[in-house]
Amino acid sequence: MNLRDQKIVVCGAGGFIGGHLVKHLISQGMNVVRAVDIKPKTEWYQVHEILGLDNVVADLKDLGNCYRAVEGTTVVFDLAADMGGMGFIENNKALCMLSVLIGTHLLVAAKHAGVKRFFFSSSACVYNSEKQKTPQVIPLREEDAYPAQPEDGYGWEKLFTERMCRHFEEDFALECRVARYHNVYGPFGTWAGGREKAPAAICRKVIEAKHSGKHEIEIWGDGKQTRSFMYIDDCLKGTQMITESNIHEPLNLGSDELVTIDQLVDLVEEIAGVRLKRYYKLDAPKGVNGRNSDNTRILELLGWEPSIRLREGLAKTYAWIEEEIATGKEQILAAR
Ligand code: NAD
Repeated sequence: MNLRDQKIVVCGAGGFIGGHLVKHLISQGMNVVRAVDIKPKTEWYQVHEILGLDNVVADLKDLGNCYRAVEGTTVVFDLAADMGGMGFIENNKALCMLSVLIGTHLLVAAKHAGVKRFFFSSSACVYNSEKQKTPQVIPLREEDAYPAQPEDGYGWEKLFTERMCRHFEEDFALECRVARYHNVYGPFGTWAGGREKAPAAICRKVIEAKHSGKHEIEIWGDGKQTRSFMYIDDCLKGTQMITESNIHEPLNLGSDELVTIDQLVDLVEEIAGVRLKRYYKLDAPKGVNGRNSDNTRILELLGWEPSIRLREGLAKTYAWIEEEIATGKEQILAAR
């Protein structure tokens, strides 16, 4: 499928990836007819005002709103979820699981509207936590999601909605595409307020330490936990490729450049030109000990994998957050 010929709705368009995706699609001349998010428009990270694009504020947990959101469209991108970094998902499991209403109702509405393609943004949090106990990770392959023991709350919701997609495809011929994102970062994302993820949080903390002259930083966990981080441009490219492809199975979409959290801090310090004294908060939410993306399958199927180096993406993210702080912007934990 070529997205160029489709009428597209992006759900969760007021968020980080959704906002970028709308821009990415319209910059290629694609017909994004609707962008939907629950947040008031003043809180959307990016609002794209162009002729023919309707920016809608609606709660997609509600079935009626889902019918209206997908009406007249042929492709649905489901990026709407109540989510955040470990600090949020470890303490808000019920809220995370309630996103099941978004995926379920969007699928029901998409089936009803005769949508041709449905994209669901799943997560590396679906993977069996038994396989992520040590920092010396074996990268996660797609089949490692089963037997199921995902991240409690958030991961279970993602795994359940993946299966809904699978069965809507099998039983109702609704073509679904699923990407398992591994830690996406970049400008126009959350960097404060409690939902931010590690790269943005560390950039913010380093900037604050630099500006205050108090050269200290608090790190969640012992700094030895390992992760990979995918820059937003790779995420957008992969999301489009997977949606246009004939791949019916969930696919990893992540970088395989593995770093410890300490190495992530090293990189941000280098970008900022400071060295900070590190304090480790061992009882803070820190997620699994180690996680990386195995990209064998995506390379096999698409001949492509995310490749933007962490140092390069972090420099852009750091510069954007620094500018946000310099211009007095604030991010709040939006009530939903
Ligand atoms: P985000 O929080 O910036 O964006 C999600 C958006 O969904 C928010 O703007 C939020 O207001 C909206 N939303 C929440 N509940 C809604 C509702 N009931 N109705 C309508 N809109 C609602 O997060 P993001 O980083 O852009 O993530 C996008 C998707 O990718 C999510 O499904 C997320 O779970 C998934 N994902 C993200 C990452 C990552 O590292 N960012 C990793 C894995 C998976």
